[in-house]
Amino acid sequence: MSIKENLLAIKKNIPDTVTLVAVSKTKPMSYIQEAYDEGQRVFGENRVQEMTEKWENMPKDIEWHMIGHLQRNKVKYMAEYVSLVHGVDSPRLLAEINKQAEKHNRVISCLLQVHIAEEDTKFGFNEEELLDLVANEEFKAFKNVKIVGLMGMATFTENMDQVRREFASLKSLFTKLKSNYADFTTLSMGMSGDYNIAIEEGSTMVRIGSSIFGSRN
Ligand SMILES: *Cc1c(COP(=O)(O)O)cnc(C)c1O
Repeated sequence: MSIKENLLAIKKNIPDTVTLVAVSKTKPMSYIQEAYDEGQRVFGENRVQEMTEKWENMPKDIEWHMIGHLQRNKVKYMAEYVSLVHGVDSPRLLAEINKQAEKHNRVISCLLQVHIAEEDTKFGFNEEELLDLVANEEFKAFKNVKIVGLMGMATFTENMDQVRREFASLKSLFTKLKSNYADFTTLSMGMSGDYNIAIEEGSTMVRIGSSIFGSRN
């Protein structure tokens, strides 16, 4: 199957209300161009340097999403153009994004990453830390970041009941926060192997790489 065919098959499979982030990390710009030519405009990357190189060389109406674990000292390189940061996993990172966004007179949209997996290898806040953060006056005063929702990754497992349970727990946390925070619109969950379950459990944004561009090394 070609990138075009993969993309069309996935789009047919997801509702119009769910945003597709085409995860192009490690893949060449020619692959991105192929998806772009089919109308795809939202791409996800997990390394700032690679994303910046692609941003510099690709059409300017692409929305670049940073989906990976982000180091604070890299934020400055993408503050000019990044459109959504999915993996905000510490208050210090949020503060740095605010600081760098201010230098460019921008408001950068961010998702708080929640630790939902039973594995302990994945980054993110637990529920208590999350509730503390969104209620914190210091963070509420930030003018150059806007927290628009949550992001999570399920455990890497064949056990789809467990995956479903983890997504459901993230959705319930999202619903709880959404009633208090008007900016909460986005729930980023679901990848190639589990996006159908994620959508059934309330995802509004899926991050799909290998099912579009082929497997990575
Ligand atoms: C790589 C990556 C994806 C895409 O994974 P696929 O299984 O290739 O769809 C989604 N989310 C994050 C955070 C990733 O790092």
